[in-house]
Amino acid sequence: VSLADPREELVRVSRLLYLRGLVTAAGGNVSFRVSDEMFWITPSGPHKGTLSPSDVVLMSTSGEVVETSGRKPSSEWRMHAAVYRARTDARAVVHTHGPLSTTLGTTSGVVRPMSEEGIIYLGGAVRCIRWRRAGTWELAEAVANSLRDSNAVIIERHGAVTLGPTLEIAAARAEALEEAAELYLGALTSPRACWRSVLWP
Ligand SMILES: [Zn+2]
Repeated sequence: VSLADPREELVRVSRLLYLRGLVTAAGGNVSFRVSDEMFWITPSGPHKGTLSPSDVVLMSTSGEVVETSGRKPSSEWRMHAAVYRARTDARAVVHTHGPLSTTLGTTSGVVRPMSEEGIIYLGGAVRCIRWRRAGTWELAEAVANSLRDSNAVIIERHGAVTLGPTLEIAAARAEALEEAAELYLGALTSPRACWRSVLWP
């Protein structure tokens, strides 16, 4: 398997996201689109930190499994399919369960990046959409709609979704969002939190 194999990339990025605490053994998923309607996605079941390329599943945006070694695609594949339909420029979608971005998005409705890096990667404030049941088209369409004019969105009490022209960039956005939440939480809870209006009007 060459380095250019998207399955290798998916496995590598999944492991990095797991080590960073952004996906858990069973929660979160990553995909990479190889044509208009086909994408590789991490499977349902195996631990996200120890996947191998043969675990990854090729499927179509209409939900057909095209190639698998026996694994089922992530139960949240609809979210990926809907994002690829809504954003023809997206080549990769990363769905994380980052604790701080989830908590802060849920409680304050938004995560505002403060650092230059955060602003560059996220563009601006990241919205939180209301909870809908995981794995449903209802959630998938809500996520995709929110990502029409943004590269990141938080789902209330669940996690976040980022996209990018490459897997590296989608993953970097996921990490930037969690870092932004860490900084934002620090600023909000700091004894000088009243100064926050100076930091970002
Ligand atoms: Zn999830």
